[in-house]
Amino acid sequence: MIQLHDLQFEPYLSEKEINEAIDKLAEQLNRDYEGDTPVFLGVLNGAFMFASEIIKRFKGDCEVSFVKLGSYEGTRSTGDVKTLLGLNQSLKGRRVVLIEDIVDTGNTLEEINEILKKEGVADYKVLTLFFKPEAYKKSIKIDYKGMEIPNKFIVGYGLDYDGLGRNLTEVYKRKEQ
Ligand code: 5GP
Ligand code: MG
Repeated sequence: MIQLHDLQFEPYLSEKEINEAIDKLAEQLNRDYEGDTPVFLGVLNGAFMFASEIIKRFKGDCEVSFVKLGSYEGTRSTGDVKTLLGLNQSLKGRRVVLIEDIVDTGNTLEEINEILKKEGVADYKVLTLFFKPEAYKKSIKIDYKGMEIPNKFIVGYGLDYDGLGRNLTEVYKRKEQ
C-alpha cells in the first residue's frame, strides 16, 4: 500500500504485466509501420514513460514530438481540456501515431483530434496504454489499446495524483473505502 497526499493506493498492475502489454503493442506497430517514418506524438505529462518504452521498441525510422494538454483536477476529469503546449512541427502529409497514457472520457482525445484535423496529416492512429471502456463517451476509434481497465483511478507509470506518483514503475489503484 502507498500513500500520495491524502489518498491510499494498492498494487494493481506489475511491471511485468505492463511490459508484456507494451511488447504486444510494439509488435503491431512494427508490422503496421514497416518501411514508413511515422511521427510519434506523445501527450504530456502522463504519456512520457509509456512513450519512451514504446518508441525504444520501434525498429524503423521515426520522429518524436509532444503536445501538452490538461483536464484533470485531482482524481476527476473536468471536461475542459486546455492546450498548454502546442505542436512545434508540421505534420502535413505525415503518418502520426498519438501516444496517450490513458483514455478515460475521451475529451482529451477529441481536443487533439481537432488540432490534428487542421494539420492535414496523411493518417492518424491512436495508441493508448490504458483504456477505460466504461468511462469512454466518444466515437473516435482507438486503434491500439494496451490494457482495458475498470473505471477506477490509477497512478504510476507516468500517471499522477496531483503531481505525485508518476515515477512509480508499477500501477496502483485507489483503495476503496
Ligand atoms: P480524458 O480526457 O479521456 O477524460 O482523460 C484523459 C487524461 O486524464 C489522461 O491523459 C490522464 O492524464 C488523465 N486520467 C484519466 N484517467 C486517469 C486515471 O485513472 N488516473 C490518472 N492519474 N489520470 C487519469
Ligand atoms: Mg494524459
